[in-house]
Amino acid sequence: MRIAVIGAGIGGLTAAVGLQADGHEITVFEQRPEPSPDGAGLTLFGNAFEALDLLGLGDTVRAVSSGAIASMRPGQRHPSGSWLITVPQRAIASMRSAHRVDLHRALTEHLRAGALHTGQTALVAADGSPSVTVGDRTEDFDLVVSADGIRSRNRVALGLDTGLRYAGYTAWRGVTSRPVDIQGEAGETWGRGQLFGIVPLPDGRVYWFGTLSTSAGAAFSDEHEAVQRQFAGWHDPIRECISATRPEAVMRHDVYDLAKPLTSFTRGRTVLLGDAAHAMTPNLGQGAGQGIEDAATLTLLLRNASRSDCDSILARYSGLRRKRTRTVLQRSRMAGRVAQAANPLTVGLRNTALRLTPGSLMGTLSQRIHAWPKPTG
Ligand SMILES: Cc1cc2nc3c(=O)[nH]c(=O)nc-3n(C[C@H](O)[C@H](O)[C@H](O)COP(=O)(O)OP(=O)(O)OC[C@H]3O[C@@H](n4cnc5c(N)ncnc54)[C@H](O)[C@@H]3O)c2cc1C
Repeated sequence: MRIAVIGAGIGGLTAAVGLQADGHEITVFEQRPEPSPDGAGLTLFGNAFEALDLLGLGDTVRAVSSGAIASMRPGQRHPSGSWLITVPQRAIASMRSAHRVDLHRALTEHLRAGALHTGQTALVAADGSPSVTVGDRTEDFDLVVSADGIRSRNRVALGLDTGLRYAGYTAWRGVTSRPVDIQGEAGETWGRGQLFGIVPLPDGRVYWFGTLSTSAGAAFSDEHEAVQRQFAGWHDPIRECISATRPEAVMRHDVYDLAKPLTSFTRGRTVLLGDAAHAMTPNLGQGAGQGIEDAATLTLLLRNASRSDCDSILARYSGLRRKRTRTVLQRSRMAGRVAQAANPLTVGLRNTALRLTPGSLMGTLSQRIHAWPKPTG
């Protein structure tokens, strides 16, 4: 089939490479002038790697990622550095971390020459017929996959949008410009309306993120200084991670997710994939992982299918992926509420509950999220 993929993010690229390997003729439209975006780090779990392996991309992503985090002590810490909870190692055994730029580059290199068209803002037909319009030129395809991200214009054009919800917090992200000794301890530290995460990258540099519960659109005149101030007094090596990051490499985004899960991921011969379909908060580290699952599900369902099967296949894709991503989106939102709690009483209760909860229970809950329910039959 001739398939258009709109958006060369992790979701769109994975779908494009998977579908291309099955013999489909793929054209990718990306609005950015450059193939690879800026970005910080990313973690992926076993569900993403199961899906990537199925597309023949598992080793490609392993080669640009590190499994070092999987051997570190998992759990949540208090800003003083004491552990609130430690979960069993098996809960993160499949976890790997990568720099986003490396991941994008590795996926892009699998596209056939000429498949990726950058600097092209692509719009779908509102009735879902499989055509793509760039400027004043419209091209017909057999299928259109719109992976145009959280602020998807195509989701709106197709009449599938439910709006976005501000999650109540903003997130700084950065990657250190040199290796930092994290003393074998990664993971998250939870404070009051704030959390800080430390993730080792393959070359010893550290990807970190720091959040702050605040109103949407809050402005800081100096982001580097603001994040240093917010996490002053937190345990080592948080201060060193921030100071080892070039000020211009600190980025900040307000965090949003979909106001409500979509009632469908498809209209006609056009499907939504990745954040366009199910943007969620980053609290479970599953946004990109779910987009990768979408890509593998669509590829598998289309494998050996004829054009006449397309409508039933797209309905099945929508049903399977809505069910899975609704659960992950809701749990991620819930995890965000707990992690970002700011009221001192609530934080005290949360910390006591964490100290009393068996780590094995938390481990089992996260392992359920890390299992991809792949399509059968
Ligand atoms: C602070 C933070 C931390 C996170 N950490 C993790 C993590 O550790 N693990 C994880 O799995 N997920 C994480 N996520 C989520 C993850 O970043 C996203 O889920 C993922 O990047 C979405 O990929 P995507 O391809 O669906 O969309 P995007 O990456 O947004 O890509 C969409 C692409 O479409 C292009 N585009 C948009 N409109 C058009 C158009 N009309 N025509 C052509 N091109 C268009 C854009 O330029 C962009 O390149 C995190 C998110 C945040 C905010």
